[in-house]
Amino acid sequence: MTSAPARLLIIGPQGSGKGTQGVRIAEALGIPAVSTGDVFRANVKEGTELGLKVKAIIDAGDLVPDDLTSAIVRDRLAEADAAGGFLLDGYPRNLGQVADLDAFLQERGEALTAVIELSVPREESIQRLSLRAAEQGRADDNEESIAKRLAIYESETAPILDVYRARGIVDEIDGVGSLDEITERITAALAARAISA
Ligand code: AMP
Repeated sequence: MTSAPARLLIIGPQGSGKGTQGVRIAEALGIPAVSTGDVFRANVKEGTELGLKVKAIIDAGDLVPDDLTSAIVRDRLAEADAAGGFLLDGYPRNLGQVADLDAFLQERGEALTAVIELSVPREESIQRLSLRAAEQGRADDNEESIAKRLAIYESETAPILDVYRARGIVDEIDGVGSLDEITERITAALAARAISA
């Protein structure tokens, strides 16, 4: 069986484990994992112009403006390693970004081929985020910012799933279980779409 191209999005509330699973799946498929959160955090850490611009926004748990975020993703996807496929983590995050992504993929004659929705109950997300705060000391993993990010997820990010559901590309994956179990579930869902290594 020939494989379908892996142009993927992994989506789920903060604390759903999408970052960890995204990296695992991308590695298994030999495609780059592109996390806008990681790009922003790296820039904040290095004190770049972009980092200085977005630090306060990220610490407060707000969304970085769409034009800035979409330009970063567009440039990243133009790199050679993303030509054969990619996994997006944390982008698009609202309907405006869906339109931006559609527009620049269309220019390449491409579209997303699968959207992995990791579902985790709210209490479990909050528990995992508090644990991560203790382990990694992320500045935005404080109570106020966590509450804001989860609220933004529900009001702005969850609605983008309706758009992708209408296209028939969403696989809902139970995000509760061991890391390996969840990776296995995602791998099976992608294989059913002929997306495999
Ligand atoms: P994440 O690691 O995906 O939870 O992202 C951490 C923070 O980076 C978010 O709370 C936002 O402030 C910012 N961010 C990441 N991705 C996006 C995006 N697609 N649009 C706007 N802001 C973003």
